[in-house]
Amino acid sequence: MLNIVIFGPPGCGKGTQSAKLIDKYNLVHLSTGDVIRREIKSGSEFGQQLKGIVEKGELVPYELIIKILESALAQNKGANGFIFDGFPRTIAQAKDLDTILANDDQAVTMVVSLCIHDDKVVERLLNRAKIEGRKDDTENVIKNRLQVYKEQTCPLIDFYRTQGKYVEVEGDCAIDDIFCQISKIVDKKLEAVV
Ligand code: AMP
Repeated sequence: MLNIVIFGPPGCGKGTQSAKLIDKYNLVHLSTGDVIRREIKSGSEFGQQLKGIVEKGELVPYELIIKILESALAQNKGANGFIFDGFPRTIAQAKDLDTILANDDQAVTMVVSLCIHDDKVVERLLNRAKIEGRKDDTENVIKNRLQVYKEQTCPLIDFYRTQGKYVEVEGDCAIDDIFCQISKIVDKKLEAVV
């Protein structure tokens, strides 16, 4: 199985690159943010619980997010592999992901990080707000999301770097150029495995 964590700050293009990766490598896209937004839209009680947290740009509590992840994985048993988008976001989540995958004799294959400057993040997300109208794409919430990313998610860089799984790609380029870079990295990894 090919299990790729697509990593980077909000607005770095994780969703766009994930869509291209799932097509090329026949993987399942597992975006915790998308699952959460669907749950909120459904109007369920669980969705109501999540709404306030997401709209403030905070992280959904650990137990809830693990529940979401486990259910998404269970629904896709037999997949060729996964693109984890927006997960893990903390060291605790990363350790849990390792444990869950290890139960199936699997592991994270690699972490592809899209590098992009903070100013660009704010610019891109404000633009996205105009198009998609996401409630968490307002300037204040974006700043909070960036801070949460730096404090809680960035420690994952060292976590995966020490495992030799972390690779960086310049994220402020044309979509196809970024995808070409990522594909080269993935293909090299696949060749090494064969
Ligand atoms: P995203 O679309 O990945 O930017 O996620 C949108 C929002 O969903 C985040 O700002 C969090 O509130 C919540 N969320 C998504 N993934 C996670 C996660 N792995 N852990 C905690 N909260 C998450």
